[in-house]
Amino acid sequence: MSKRKILVIGAGSAGRYAARQAARLGGEVVLASPPPFGGLCILSGCMPSKALLRPAHVYHFIRTGLSDLGLSVDTASLQADIPAMVAMKDAMIREMAESAQESITGNPAIRFLPDSARFLSRDSAKIGDEVLPFDRAVIATGSTPRIPPIPGISQKWLWTSDDVLVCRELPRSVVVMGAGPIGLELGQYLSMLGVKVEVVEILNPWNRHIDKRIGEGYIEALRKSGLPIHLGLATQKFETLQDGRAILHATTREGESLQFEADRILFATGRRAAIDGLDLKAAEVSLTHAGAVSVDPFLRTSNPHIFAAGDVTGHLPLLNLATYHGEMAGTNAALDHPLVVEERPVPQSIFTEPEFARVGLSESEAKSRAIPVITGYLPFSDLGRAIVNRQTDGAMKIIASAKTREILGAEMFGAGAADLIHLMGVALSLRATIDSYQRILHIHPTMAEIVRYVIDEMTGAL
Ligand SMILES: Cc1cc2nc3c(=O)[nH]c(=O)nc-3n(C[C@H](O)[C@H](O)[C@H](O)COP(=O)(O)OP(=O)(O)OC[C@H]3O[C@@H](n4cnc5c(N)ncnc54)[C@H](O)[C@@H]3O)c2cc1C
Repeated sequence: MSKRKILVIGAGSAGRYAARQAARLGGEVVLASPPPFGGLCILSGCMPSKALLRPAHVYHFIRTGLSDLGLSVDTASLQADIPAMVAMKDAMIREMAESAQESITGNPAIRFLPDSARFLSRDSAKIGDEVLPFDRAVIATGSTPRIPPIPGISQKWLWTSDDVLVCRELPRSVVVMGAGPIGLELGQYLSMLGVKVEVVEILNPWNRHIDKRIGEGYIEALRKSGLPIHLGLATQKFETLQDGRAILHATTREGESLQFEADRILFATGRRAAIDGLDLKAAEVSLTHAGAVSVDPFLRTSNPHIFAAGDVTGHLPLLNLATYHGEMAGTNAALDHPLVVEERPVPQSIFTEPEFARVGLSESEAKSRAIPVITGYLPFSDLGRAIVNRQTDGAMKIIASAKTREILGAEMFGAGAADLIHLMGVALSLRATIDSYQRILHIHPTMAEIVRYVIDEMTGAL
């Protein structure tokens, strides 16, 4: 029997997982993606942003945090060498991209074509000059920054995350549009290195799904770190000054007019599916209202021979989902009968100082599903390890079913939140109850003990 011909479009995280999985299951796989190789996470997403945030956090800590520990140093000579930081980041991502490329080119079951793909019909595509018929295809072309249509936008000062990550000479002032993960992380990166930053966010509260104490506590902790965040501000228009700088005109909910002047305006206002040039019409693949590739619970598009995964589907733009869905799209492309993609808890985080993280349901989300819940809450100021470390800005809340006592979700901010939340990710995946979790011994004194104390409060043991 001839092998099933599977075309995977896009060699980012979703596409690489899809290609490797389809090859593992016996498909004859072609993976098409134009240079540079690597995808968003490695080239201009998760990895470079964290590589630059780390020195910014250390720089800030040395300047402001040492005295809390009874240490002092002459900070007058402390330098943040931005070109050196960017060069360090570039070298790191080059290595990561090479290693990702080897994992594809070294796989004899995958033929890699370094070119863009465009659909010609329901079952064929053109890659470079080559016309390729396929039995199944996976679209994994990712996303690009979304710039909202606000009057007065000018290329003279418009910045996206891509620009921040390659910038070797920082501007004096930046307005960040959007207090989502990218806006807060990059806003803090810039402000900790001495740029005058203002974050402007239309929503207020910052996140209406999560607990007020957690959301407000997190935003307050960021403000304390030196990052001004303005919530509930609607942007009306931009103006460009003679010297090329920008003015943002905004109004508060109460109707007050505000203006912000800056060298650059960083748009961290979300991302849109990267579908330009794919000719999805030819493939009979339809889109959602938001312009993403629409998929069913099998990750199948409106053309049942074509699957999609990652940012292009408009699902949460997270690496963990891109790889999981990529693997499932590759699986389903290779199988005769596709598998339903199981809904798994999706932990998510914001890598600011302090970090924010959540997994599963919040109390308000549980309520909107008519699930009665019990909750527990503890600030880091009641946690021994956080007190010892002088890292008391933080809190955790856990949500469990009032009926079954199963843990349904958790949300937190504070030092190490992005790692600590995995304890709750494990609990959710193994469907632990607060009673079964309570049997786990925790090392004392650790930050992880916070989970134990919150659960003790919920079971009445505290
Ligand atoms: C600044 C920033 C920081 C982030 N930090 C985090 C984080 O800390 N944690 C986290 O979970 N997520 C983070 N993300 C999001 C995460 O990077 C993405 O969700 C994930 O990388 C998406 O993977 P993907 O495979 O869907 O798309 P991509 O990795 O973008 O891959 C798409 C690939 O398709 C190729 N392509 C496009 N069009 C075509 C075509 N016509 N033919 C062939 N190939 C094509 C592209 O060149 C690209 O290689 C961050 C994003 C940004 C922007």
